[in-house]
Amino acid sequence: MISADTHLPPRRPSRQVKIRDVAIGGNAPIVVQSMTNTDTADVASTVAQVAALAQAGSELVRVTVNSAEAAAAVPEIRRQLDRRGVTVPLVGDFHYNGHKLLTDFPECAMVLDKYRINPGNVGRGSRRDEQFAQLIELACRYDKPVRIGVNWGSLDQEVLARFMDDNACLPDPAPVEIVMRHALVASALESAAMAEQLGLQKDRIILSCKVSGVQDLIAVYRDLAARCDYPLHLGLTEAGMGSKGIVASTAGMAILLQEGIGDTIRVSLTPEPNGDRTQEVVVAQEILQTMGLRAFAPMVTACPGCGRTTSTYFQELASRIQGYLRDNMPLWRTRYPGVEHLHVAVMGCVVNGPGESKLADIGISLPGSGERPVAPVYVDGQKTVTLKGDHIAEEFQAIVFEYVQRRYGADAARQAG
Ligand code: SF4
Repeated sequence: MISADTHLPPRRPSRQVKIRDVAIGGNAPIVVQSMTNTDTADVASTVAQVAALAQAGSELVRVTVNSAEAAAAVPEIRRQLDRRGVTVPLVGDFHYNGHKLLTDFPECAMVLDKYRINPGNVGRGSRRDEQFAQLIELACRYDKPVRIGVNWGSLDQEVLARFMDDNACLPDPAPVEIVMRHALVASALESAAMAEQLGLQKDRIILSCKVSGVQDLIAVYRDLAARCDYPLHLGLTEAGMGSKGIVASTAGMAILLQEGIGDTIRVSLTPEPNGDRTQEVVVAQEILQTMGLRAFAPMVTACPGCGRTTSTYFQELASRIQGYLRDNMPLWRTRYPGVEHLHVAVMGCVVNGPGESKLADIGISLPGSGERPVAPVYVDGQKTVTLKGDHIAEEFQAIVFEYVQRRYGADAARQAG
């Protein structure tokens, strides 16, 4: 039976953490975040990449703060971003020496909007608790939220050893990967409890438990979600390159998002050498948008093509329209509110072309092999014009822009009035 319920899945109840004007959890829209891969000490490159990630739609950007040079560069990075009008919150990623860097570079501690701490990399033995306490004390002093981010590859060895020992005493010990899942969740929850005991407010804590396997991710986050009400940062770590990274991230995250789990997401793609870092932002947005959880940019429906169309013309047109919409979004977002919900269809022939075009706000059905060389255009379900000749692409683009102005410009005028 087909469900008549078109509502979105209910979100898991969680507290809300504010990072500047970005809210995470507590039913706020799911936040997209990203991370730079520049040397943070290289101010110019890091500013350029943070700006590009923010322009692509990243709502938080994390930078690694791994050295004195990086910590010293952070205030200048913030100043240059502010001068460019880029207000995206910056998150500092700390491992091993975060307590020292935040102490030695107070301006860095001040300008960062959030600290990310990995309990497995805070320190060894007796230094661990001492350095963790120092980090939390700094977060309290500068009133910064903290993500306690546990990672499969750097799990706190003391927590793991404790779970392994307990497991070994059981009459029927669990497989190692199951023990590791429990240890990951315990490490996150125990660290959060310790942070609260040290004075960090509950609504300044976000948790994550990143793993690199899809089934592990689902199991770990289900467990974590059931055992706390901190907002959760969701992501598959070391997802990989290209389609493998995209598919693995989507497969794991989509199941959890559908269950209402996840308040902020990052897609950890490995870019191609010299590839575009902003791809991880686009993929994260597309996961949320295709699931109907958020809208970021107009959606283009395009058919895959088949033997009924031998030309690549409709592929080129679909790609051109997609690029045109995305390139214009930074301006349109403010000028034409609601434009992110626009739906455009670019179809290859008469079989599904008119039907799919009628379902979109604007659609074009290009001629397949053997069809008359004409392309009917549908606006709000009605055929309005038939394009032909050498300038179909330009004319269709003009129709899309005219529609955006008429429909969403009117909304903006109404809101202003
Ligand atoms: S719309 Fe036409 S060209 Fe596109 S996949 Fe369907 S049959 Fe093939």
